[in-house]
Amino acid sequence: MQKLAAGNWKMNGSGAALQELLALVEAHPAPACEMLICPPATLIASAAGMTARGPLKIGGQDCHAKASGAHTGDISAAMLKDAGATYVILGHSERRTDHGETSDQVKAKAEAALAAGLTAVVCIGETEGQRDAGTTLSVCGAQLHGSLPQGASAANTVVAYEPVWAIGTGRTPTIAQIAEVHAFLRAELVKALGEDGQGVRILYGGSVKPSNAAEIFAVPHVDGALVGGASLKASDFGAIVAAL
Ligand code: PGA
Repeated sequence: MQKLAAGNWKMNGSGAALQELLALVEAHPAPACEMLICPPATLIASAAGMTARGPLKIGGQDCHAKASGAHTGDISAAMLKDAGATYVILGHSERRTDHGETSDQVKAKAEAALAAGLTAVVCIGETEGQRDAGTTLSVCGAQLHGSLPQGASAANTVVAYEPVWAIGTGRTPTIAQIAEVHAFLRAELVKALGEDGQGVRILYGGSVKPSNAAEIFAVPHVDGALVGGASLKASDFGAIVAAL
């Protein structure tokens, strides 16, 4: 399985920030893992144009569940694809919180992504309260089964485990906690998809940085990372890519 280092720029970045992509590709012309950056939608077409011939893939951060129509402000999976994206992040906890997205909606969006030929990166993760209440595995299991698209396979779907309390906080779970959730998710993916579930990449996300990447990547069933803050600087993201 080829591991995946994915960067999520969130609502950050301008045209000038695209120079970071060039620096990234220059420093990692033939990375051992797959390398993906998901900039804001306004930058996707230019980012994809700039990186078309290199190893860096470009993705979106959300899409609508419908292919087109009267949905002001929304973007369809087909439009992301048309702009040059090959991946799309779906169900990030910031979308689940800021926009009230449910697992049902995430599933519908992921199905739209697959229909458009994009790879869906489906995000799940528990809040701090849920972890303290001992419900981490049941919450993550419910989100996983509720959000997985019909037709999901190792070729078209990636799962990102992102504990909400670790996102942007500088706090990370212990290695044992990451190992427990990733092993659980692997077993649940096999339940849902059969043997193909063994090949679905499970990313860890939440305060991944150059200093903790190698330790996290050594955990069984951690098949890459979804990186927020540290993806904004080419040298930091590059160090994470090199650790995979
Ligand atoms: P962070 O964000 O790396 O800044 O914690 C991760 C994410 O939200 O994908």
